[in-house]
Amino acid sequence: MNTTTLNPAVAQENRFGAHNYHPLPVVLARGEGVYLFDTAGRRYLDMMSAYSAVSFGHGHPALIRALTEQAQRLAVCSRAFHTDQLGPFLAKLCEVTGMHSALPMNTGAEAVETAVKAARKWAYKVKGVPSGQAHILVAAGNFAGRTTTIIGFSSEAQYRDGFGPFTPGFSSVPFGDAAALEAAITPHTAAFLVEPVQGEAGIIVPPAGYLKAVRDICTRHNVLMIADEVQSGLGRTGKTLACDHEGVRPDGLTLGKALGGGLLPVSAFLARADVMAQFTPGDHGSTFGGNPLAAAVGLAALNMLETENLADLALAQGDYLMTELRRMNHPAVVEVRGKGLLIGIEIDPAVASARTVCEALIHEGVLTKDTHHTVVRLAPPLTISRAQIDVAVAALRKVLDGLMNRSKTMDRSLTASLQA
Ligand SMILES: *Cc1c(COP(=O)(O)O)cnc(C)c1O
Repeated sequence: MNTTTLNPAVAQENRFGAHNYHPLPVVLARGEGVYLFDTAGRRYLDMMSAYSAVSFGHGHPALIRALTEQAQRLAVCSRAFHTDQLGPFLAKLCEVTGMHSALPMNTGAEAVETAVKAARKWAYKVKGVPSGQAHILVAAGNFAGRTTTIIGFSSEAQYRDGFGPFTPGFSSVPFGDAAALEAAITPHTAAFLVEPVQGEAGIIVPPAGYLKAVRDICTRHNVLMIADEVQSGLGRTGKTLACDHEGVRPDGLTLGKALGGGLLPVSAFLARADVMAQFTPGDHGSTFGGNPLAAAVGLAALNMLETENLADLALAQGDYLMTELRRMNHPAVVEVRGKGLLIGIEIDPAVASARTVCEALIHEGVLTKDTHHTVVRLAPPLTISRAQIDVAVAALRKVLDGLMNRSKTMDRSLTASLQA
């Protein structure tokens, strides 16, 4: 399948593009529901849905209708003016999440940046932290985007290497350890920013009771609990928010990815009233944030989450997929973990890298992406059927069997060469 190197579009990408990605060798041209199609018309099951951005499947007719109808009416006019689309979108966002108010942005990183600004200003104006001293705690292993401030508190050496100096005012505590959080809080701590399930870190689910404990600690110390649900939110883990699994409401919340219906970048920072009240005209903004096209598509996506019961579907299909993966009990698999349809399969590095597994899966008509070298991520559109899940599991079994045989053969030839 190294036809990709001969593909003229890929050659142009390689010649004229920055090499900040290392795409898998497939050239996509079309998407429909849970399927993607390459330039030769070959069909693949999409088992990663653009890092959860395509939760509703590719080209969902209701979302395409919302997009095209609004595009023909009014797409972008800036927040210099009111529109008839923004209010209904924000109202629905607050209704669905139980938060007081929302600030629309475009990308997930911008939503997190907005959260950081809100938390700092709240710390100065409400909590009474001395000027310039506000401090934000984050969880080790976090992923919150790629801006210079955000990478400054990343635990990933590569994300930081060569990009400093970094924004001060952050420090990290181990993820899943409530006692460590409490011990790190000082009178200057404004907020704790945490993903309820860590996505890019390798689909890490914290111990049961962690979110509840975090909520209690934050309340007790007057520290804002900010949940970064850019990836875990909007049904992905089997509840509207991953925080709902423990009945916890954060003080601040970031959403993105699926909020754009798989069509546009749409994100938001949501918060309780006294936190959002810190923003006054001129404090913060975005040329594209909250534009009528994004608002119309975002509203349609939120409506679809409810009308199609996607969170419940994700819970049921996620349980089924997880059970099937565990039942496979494959010797190449170290662990299967996750929540809802956000699942990570830890591959034994002695058998193959997760990247090798993903490359082999292409030949079986399944597309997904490794994360953290050893983890194969499975995060299909929430609309995936059981029959389609069965196809993905069978493909994975075939690929892992093949890689086991290959590593056994390699072991035998290594033993033979050592004996020779
Ligand atoms: C993807 C992600 C982001 C960043 O979103 P972008 O749209 O890529 O900027 C932030 N937080 C979490 C948890 C994410 O998974």
